[in-house]
Amino acid sequence: GAISTGKPKWLRVKLPTGQNYKKVRSLVQNYDLHTICESGNCPNMGECWGEGTATFMILGNVCTRSCGFCAVATGRPDTVDWDEPERVARSVKLMKVKHCVLTSVDRDDLRDGGSIIWKETVQAVRRMSPGTTMETLIPDFKGEWHNIDRIVEAAPEIVSHNMETVRRLTRQVRIQAQYDRSLAVLRYLKDQGLPRTKSGIMLGLGEKEEEVIQSLKDLREAKVDIVTLGQYLQPTPKHLPVQEFVRPEQFEKYKEIGLDMGFRYVESGPLVRSSYHAERHMF
Ligand code: SF4
Ligand code: SF4
Repeated sequence: GAISTGKPKWLRVKLPTGQNYKKVRSLVQNYDLHTICESGNCPNMGECWGEGTATFMILGNVCTRSCGFCAVATGRPDTVDWDEPERVARSVKLMKVKHCVLTSVDRDDLRDGGSIIWKETVQAVRRMSPGTTMETLIPDFKGEWHNIDRIVEAAPEIVSHNMETVRRLTRQVRIQAQYDRSLAVLRYLKDQGLPRTKSGIMLGLGEKEEEVIQSLKDLREAKVDIVTLGQYLQPTPKHLPVQEFVRPEQFEKYKEIGLDMGFRYVESGPLVRSSYHAERHMF
């Protein structure tokens, strides 16, 4: 059954500290910058900002999809803001971000799926901060290759697309998505010659060990280089309940299995988020 109260001790958050964290934090406040790290109240802020990594969400705060785990609002999205690429690029520069993770809501309402803003944002960051590396955590663009090609053209150092869960639970966890379509997107990205692809799965939604291992196999077959595994936490009582708090030893086991399969990096642990330790994935 669902567990609703009492998080185990290994999920207690680390308090952010450190010089760099404090510096970045005051910039964010003084210049009214927006990061996912802060709006999502991510437990890893101290560590990530200390290492020069931050995550920005583009294309608004309202999503056309309604995934059962996600705290982003569903509805009719904002109109596209063509100044957004420059604004994000300025934030990256001000915050002296060394490794920038970009993500977005899904824009199934737009013909280009948001891919033009995506491409312009990557290009603007590169123009203003040539030394900064980027990871783009992209939607599936409904598997429309001409839109995905804009990401390929922008050529960020890492391109990620999250499976989020195992095959059996996909309908429940991300109703408008398809397991095989997401795999096809990842395979396509790699086939276009991108250097590093990445995906993530949340655990604790009721998946079985053999299903997780099968997902890892599927990702490796799609030539994915990097994989992240973390504990799902319910953002509000309206979201999918946590079925299990997966023990740290189990995360370790998946890590070993993943590395044996040939992934270049496996981040696996209760507090791992898709963009956690992202700067380390620049092999
Ligand atoms: Fe930000 Fe991601 Fe790090 Fe959390 S894990 S602080 S969202 S970069
Ligand atoms: Fe959240 Fe992404 Fe799903 Fe939209 S598509 S509801 S932003 S996880």
